Amino acid sequence: MALFPLCKRLAGSARVLRKQLALYCLLLFLLIYFLKGRRTAVKIDKPPIFRSLGLDLSVEARAVTEETVKEKRQRLHQETWWGAPLVWGDSSISVWRRDEFGQRRVHTGLLTLAVGGYAGFLPRFLSSAELHFLPGATVTYYILTDSPRTLEPLPLLAPRRNLKIVPVAELVGWKHLALRRMALLASAIKDPIRNEVEYVFCADVDQEFVAPVGAEILGELVATLHPELYGMPRHAFPYEREPDSSAFVEDGEGDYYYTSELYGGLCPEVYTMARACSQLILQDQERGVQIAGLEESYLNRYFINRRPTCVLSPEYSWWESALAADVPAKRLVSLGRQCESLEPQKREQHGC
Ligand code: UDP
Ligand code: MN
Repeated sequence: MALFPLCKRLAGSARVLRKQLALYCLLLFLLIYFLKGRRTAVKIDKPPIFRSLGLDLSVEARAVTEETVKEKRQRLHQETWWGAPLVWGDSSISVWRRDEFGQRRVHTGLLTLAVGGYAGFLPRFLSSAELHFLPGATVTYYILTDSPRTLEPLPLLAPRRNLKIVPVAELVGWKHLALRRMALLASAIKDPIRNEVEYVFCADVDQEFVAPVGAEILGELVATLHPELYGMPRHAFPYEREPDSSAFVEDGEGDYYYTSELYGGLCPEVYTMARACSQLILQDQERGVQIAGLEESYLNRYFINRRPTCVLSPEYSWWESALAADVPAKRLVSLGRQCESLEPQKREQHGC
């Protein structure tokens, strides 16, 4: 009995303790909730994809656009709206296209420019192309270079693979060659390439084939989607906005943004394209019009006027970057652009 009052007191203080505990829990819960909310808000506030593109969208619009971009990037479209195939190497359509071309003996040229220090990329470019570019097909490599000696002794090639060196005397430097490259390609296609092969592909030399690139890429006029801009809204595309430039693209024009790392097709088509682009470049040069994106801008202008009949997915032009779209397979990797887009500490790891 004497214990009763004590028990009562204990029970009373336990209730107070329980209340205090509940209050602390509530406060803790609110604190965690608040901090988590803030972290999410910060995340939404700075999606890298938009920050890098300098897009200034409202929070609501950004949420919607971000979702759409994600969705668009995940969906593997098989066709463009004008009916050209959009090529993913492992799709059943690609398997079918490889079979179709496998029935025919197609001769394809792979054309690249290697002037100055870029000749150093040739061994890796060629050995990887031997493994993965149109394996088993008849291929001639056309190397436009000012230093043919870099390739001596000539690499051993598989049966039905040839290599031709086309000497060029060009000033080195990216800026100069960006203005000259289309003219050089056009002249090489005119003579000798178009007399020797049916299809020709132009590729930057600072690339490596890392998985098969088969006959699914063959088409009349072939362009490749830029991996950082695949699925992005059109207003994010870095089209030329200088109205005086021959590469100028008006708001509302354009379908995709293409990379200049790889394009090709039937020789007459690629010749017409390279010649047209070189003329536009020359025209701007003569009028003193300076443009931002150089060769890629003219290429994109051309593909608006003359839509490609075959569009390669970013599997065929990929590089590691915060903006690059996820792809089921990486087939051709631009080592040069990868080095440019990597953070300094990652560069060494990738051999930059
Ligand atoms: N190139 C070259 N020598 C140079 C600069 C460029 O041979 O001094 C050729 C080379 O094939 C290179 C292409 O032009 O891959 C385009 O240059 P780069 O890859 O630097 O340009 P980006 O990929 O940034 O357009
Ligand atoms: Mn390049």
